[in-house]
Amino acid sequence: MQFRQLLQRSLPGIATALITGALHQLGFFQSIEQIAYNTLFRLRGAIPWDERVVLVGVDDKTLQQLGQYPLPRRHYATLLQKLTQAEPNVVVFDLVFSEPSSFAEDRQLAEAIAQHGSVVLAQAWKQDGQLWQSIAPLRQAAVATGHIAKLEDADGITRKIEPQRQGTPALSIAAIQVYSLVHHAVALPDLQDRLWLNWVGQMRQASHYSFVDVVQGRVPAIALRGKIVMVGSTATGIDPLPTPFDRTPPASGNYLHANAINNLLQTNFLHPAPDSWFLLIFLIGGPGLSLMLMQCPVKHQLILWLGLCLSWLLLSGIMLRTNYWLPTGLPLALFSLTTVAILTLERLQLELENRTLQHLATSDTLTKIANRHHFDQYLDYEWHRSARTQSSLALILCDVDFFKRFNDHYGHQAGDNCLMLVAAAIKGAVKRPADLVARYGGEEFVVILPDTDVKGAVEVAERIRAQVKALAISHAQSTVAQTVSLSLGVVSTIPHSQGAAATLIATADQALYRAKAEGRDRSVVASW
Ligand code: GH3
Ligand code: MG
Ligand code: MG
Repeated sequence: MQFRQLLQRSLPGIATALITGALHQLGFFQSIEQIAYNTLFRLRGAIPWDERVVLVGVDDKTLQQLGQYPLPRRHYATLLQKLTQAEPNVVVFDLVFSEPSSFAEDRQLAEAIAQHGSVVLAQAWKQDGQLWQSIAPLRQAAVATGHIAKLEDADGITRKIEPQRQGTPALSIAAIQVYSLVHHAVALPDLQDRLWLNWVGQMRQASHYSFVDVVQGRVPAIALRGKIVMVGSTATGIDPLPTPFDRTPPASGNYLHANAINNLLQTNFLHPAPDSWFLLIFLIGGPGLSLMLMQCPVKHQLILWLGLCLSWLLLSGIMLRTNYWLPTGLPLALFSLTTVAILTLERLQLELENRTLQHLATSDTLTKIANRHHFDQYLDYEWHRSARTQSSLALILCDVDFFKRFNDHYGHQAGDNCLMLVAAAIKGAVKRPADLVARYGGEEFVVILPDTDVKGAVEVAERIRAQVKALAISHAQSTVAQTVSLSLGVVSTIPHSQGAAATLIATADQALYRAKAEGRDRSVVASW
């Protein structure tokens, strides 16, 4: 295949790649991407929960037994005392103790925090950007603080976390930093870029205990020993967190941080596809697909498109299992757009070719008016229509006078030019859209005039004669005029359904013969 041909065949794909690229920049495929994300995660299913992470939830049962949310601080102090006895490595609070409560209770909690020594507290920002954090005595007792600002997508699902904001690490990062200090060093990812969560599974599949059960000593110490304990609300309606696995009912906010801690411990945050992949997608889905689809049978085109979409989904699924996230909305849209563009283009091309063929089949190559074949068809059609409606159908046969002499004198080329001019003049003399001017053969032309009586037909015939005269094409060899002239045979009748259109032509021909015989350059009406 030559380069030119290659370029021509890949051109539609280049165009769709550019359009899709622009739409991608405008965020057009985000919702498809989000649906694909949720679907692929559910298809992948849950992966094992890291046993070093435990959730302790202030759940509905806790609120029923211990009182309204937020719980009095003394309960948190009791929880911490219990946890300290069980010896977890880190205790993380996805809670902000921002309001001062009773002095005694605050002091009790601060002491419990200090006593444990590895407690991480949370902070966030209010909508106006103001810092929202725990009261100073608690902060001072804690070993670290992490932020819990959420990055929700338009569909309410959080897919990324900010590893740090305004110098404060994310709660999960802070927890792991403390864990690294007190227990076992864990390598942290690059904290400059956003981290892409790898959802582990449903919240209920995580190891979790009820706050009240821990406080009342119903959870064995072994379940908590050496763990990172994530304390937060899991009660209905408080801090809901939809995830691909928990949409209705949603999970709770602290599960987000527990999941992020899981990803940090397992080093399995998702790696988004690098930019080079996008280039590959554009090359495959645009010009590449275009090259493959062009000039293929439609069935093969559809199979190829479907195969490509399914393969891409399969590849995305496999990549997700290996912790890579491939874009899905963009490639699927690109594959589909390229296929639709090529199907449409080829259809248009076919239509155009058909039209050209149709035109070639029905028009005369020299004069560009209708040819004999088209005339025959149209006359037959009009004959039957007029027979049905019992309306007049007129026919005019026109013949150039002494045209053989013209040819002999001026040459064949001049003869051709003359025929073109005469054809145009006849066409110009005929007004109604249903009228048809055709080349009958050689230097003879024919005009069909539906719904036209003799009077009208003679009028048109004379107009044609005058128009051709007005061309003023010199004809030195004519003995009837100085210029090219026409003889015309005119006929009009109300056709019979039994009769044949051929009789109309024969009658017009007789009239034409008479016009010739009577001295040419005139029109003669047939007596039907
Ligand atoms: P009459 O006045 O009796 O009609 O005489 P005529 O010479 O016009 O008629 P005749 O049928 O004897 O000759 C017709 C001539 O038209 C023959 C041919 O040289 C010429 N002719 C037919 N078709 C074409 C064409 O496509 N191009 C050119 N240049 N001449 C054509
Ligand atoms: Mg003739
Ligand atoms: Mg002639």
